[in-house]
Amino acid sequence: MPSSQPTLWTPPQSIAEREQALLAPYAVHSTDTKGRRHAEPPHTYRGPFQRDRDRIVHSTAYRRLSYKTQVFTGEMGDYHRTRLTHTLEVSSLARTLARALRLNEDLVEALALAHDIGHPPFGHSGEDKLDELLADHGGFNHNHHALRIVELLEQRYCGFAGLNLSSEVLEGQRTRIDKDLARERPSLEVQTVEAADSIAYDAHDADDALELGLLTLGELVEVPLWREAADRVTSRHGPLNDDDLRRAAVHELLDFQVGDLLREATGRLVEFEVHCAEDVLGVPPIIIASGNLAEKKTELETFLHQRVYRHPRVMAMRRQAQDALGEMFDAYLRSPELLPGSYQQRIDAIGIHRSSGDYLAGMTDRFAIARHGQMFAKQQSL
Ligand code: MG
Repeated sequence: MPSSQPTLWTPPQSIAEREQALLAPYAVHSTDTKGRRHAEPPHTYRGPFQRDRDRIVHSTAYRRLSYKTQVFTGEMGDYHRTRLTHTLEVSSLARTLARALRLNEDLVEALALAHDIGHPPFGHSGEDKLDELLADHGGFNHNHHALRIVELLEQRYCGFAGLNLSSEVLEGQRTRIDKDLARERPSLEVQTVEAADSIAYDAHDADDALELGLLTLGELVEVPLWREAADRVTSRHGPLNDDDLRRAAVHELLDFQVGDLLREATGRLVEFEVHCAEDVLGVPPIIIASGNLAEKKTELETFLHQRVYRHPRVMAMRRQAQDALGEMFDAYLRSPELLPGSYQQRIDAIGIHRSSGDYLAGMTDRFAIARHGQMFAKQQSL
């Protein structure tokens, strides 16, 4: 018999030691965090960005993403992405990239899970309508609204409004509002989430549009990025039926983009002599597609804009959704008592327009449709 039991676990390292061992010097390390607006004692076994990730996952706005449109509304089927599944795809891709580049996965995950939390119902159709309705009152932008949610609107903790997230998560979200106005280059973790978002929607919008019958494989082969992915797949597997080709080409599109981005980023880290997180602030972007791929991504995105996002079926849903939001907004302006109590209470501070906009923006698609039905059925019966 052995004299002692085998060691099944070792005492946990501190978060700082763990990051020191695993992360690259140019990653954002938890020990360098600029902290939170409301100081809080450190957690025993969770780092600051892990806590941020957990707070986002437990927020109301995050859960509501499951019933919010990405591009296609729920009425169009149940295959396509919702805002939540898009968010999870972005998070998954971003973590893959972060692990390969030895960046801070906790920060990347927090940023990814929060990146679309400010989207109103009905995707960009809802956003455009709210922006129009609030044009004389500051407009509406989903990235800006995400900050309002995490800094103000979520009410989950004693002692402060919002989620009291770390400065690095808030700064990351802030850079999404107007990239041209950003004073300095965002962290590599922020750049990673931005790149993962683009990889995800280029691939899944093509996939969803094919499944919904808005596009055919024959039309998509006009697009070089798709055609080359399909060619690589068929040269590997031989001729495939349409369903298998579609699925394999979508996987190839994701894998190819991730591989390209990692090669480009690795080269740029050397070229621009990035040795620490501060070095990132003053050099050109690091986490971007190669020039060749970037050009092909633009071609695919232009094609999707023309053929999918403006498809008659999508445009019909857009009009319906925008009409419903506009009618509800007008009703709240006329009769603020229709708003829930907490939104009525904020009218004195922020005005009826913004408070109504906040309420509408927080709705899921299905809640907005149901609420609109109730409000207008009621009016008609009066
Ligand atoms: Mg997104």
